[in-house]
Amino acid sequence: MAKPQQDATHEHMARLILALRSQGVTDAKVLNAIEKTPRELFTPELFKERAFEDSALPIACGQTISQPFIVGLMTQALKVEKRDRVLEIGTGSGYQTAVLSRLARLVYTIERYRTLMKDAEARFKLLGLTNVITRFGDGGKGWAAQAPFDKCMVTAAAPGEPTELLKQLKPTGVLVAPIGKGPVQTLRRYTGDGEGGFDVEDLLDVRFVPLLDGVAKEL
Ligand code: SAH
Repeated sequence: MAKPQQDATHEHMARLILALRSQGVTDAKVLNAIEKTPRELFTPELFKERAFEDSALPIACGQTISQPFIVGLMTQALKVEKRDRVLEIGTGSGYQTAVLSRLARLVYTIERYRTLMKDAEARFKLLGLTNVITRFGDGGKGWAAQAPFDKCMVTAAAPGEPTELLKQLKPTGVLVAPIGKGPVQTLRRYTGDGEGGFDVEDLLDVRFVPLLDGVAKEL
């Protein structure tokens, strides 16, 4: 028989999935990936009880773990396919990375805080996610040695068009990123037209921490 704690977790998760679906995250593969990813493992001890709430939560180094709805929406917008190699900028807690890893062949993820990177790596290990490749560095520059990527997701707000990252996409690749300098940014999707240009779509208003230059000096 399932323990009461397991029942409660199961129920919280079921409610979260319903909420995401009603807000437009309808891709069954994406919802399944979210369902398989225990968000409580990615939230700090202090906020474990709120892990299944549909809200962003603080993590170490003054950063945040994204709201599940935004994770679902961005993942859906990226149109990840199972043979894809995906580049993610801004590992943070590793939650979005873990969701992507359930859908893609390989996920390359870059974080500018050493502490966040180490904590995220420990979580990937614990979950047995062997298709995640991590790097401590400035994600704004991308990962040229591993390019070109099928898809790219940026989970920190880029002040303008992420030209360097767009250059590292395949000709028909897709990049999803919050773009803007203020507290509210536009979630934008760039889809390669196969001839070096991009179709650009604005999806919705979002609030992300900024994409900063260089690596963090603090741990
Ligand atoms: N996807 C994360 C959300 C992280 S918040 C999650 O699900 O938890 C954004 C992250 O981007 C922060 O951890 C921040 O340190 C990181 N970041 C900001 N600028 C960066 C850069 N230039 N290179 C790599 N990471 C960056």
